[in-house]
Amino acid sequence: MEYYGSHISRLIEALTGLPGVGAKSAQRLAFHIINMPKEQVQALAEAMTSARENVHYCRECCTLTDDDLCPICRSQKRNHRQIMVVENSRDLAAYEKTGRYEGVYHVLQGAISPMLGIGPSDIRLKELMQRLQGDVEEVIIATNSSLEGETTAMYIARLVKPTGIKVTRIASGVPVGGDIENIDEVTLERALSGRVEL
Ligand code: ZN
Repeated sequence: MEYYGSHISRLIEALTGLPGVGAKSAQRLAFHIINMPKEQVQALAEAMTSARENVHYCRECCTLTDDDLCPICRSQKRNHRQIMVVENSRDLAAYEKTGRYEGVYHVLQGAISPMLGIGPSDIRLKELMQRLQGDVEEVIIATNSSLEGETTAMYIARLVKPTGIKVTRIASGVPVGGDIENIDEVTLERALSGRVEL
């Protein structure tokens, strides 16, 4: 990529490998950025740096948040005895959009995947088990219906059952291999209300 000059080559290199960004898209993005007004580029860089610096995982549910505790964990209006387990903060956002769930969440930040070498200790399971020592009535497992999501659901069910806490799994109807964040709100609501006990 020497023909581009070192600055643009460096930018292309930095963009390559972001999720969904291959070599071609990286070049397209790089040229787009170079043609943007300088202030806009500055604002973009600033937004990235400050998000990276100021966003952390909630002390309770492990979702991404600006504070020590996220707004959902802080809220007195939520039912803290009902915990819905999701794979990531995007899935949490999808359920929040339905406006029908009144419990709290636990965000695993991933799913078990033997193929990718992601084991139970690589996701936020230990934190979940710690929370279950408190006053909890139900754990709703809302991981994706992919192989990884199902493996994770079974693993969690096996861990939680001996505690005597009710464990449920959201109803299928969520397409197989479907990512929860891409499913419409009606389907999500149906999956939640039709959940079955494991
Ligand atoms: Zn939280």
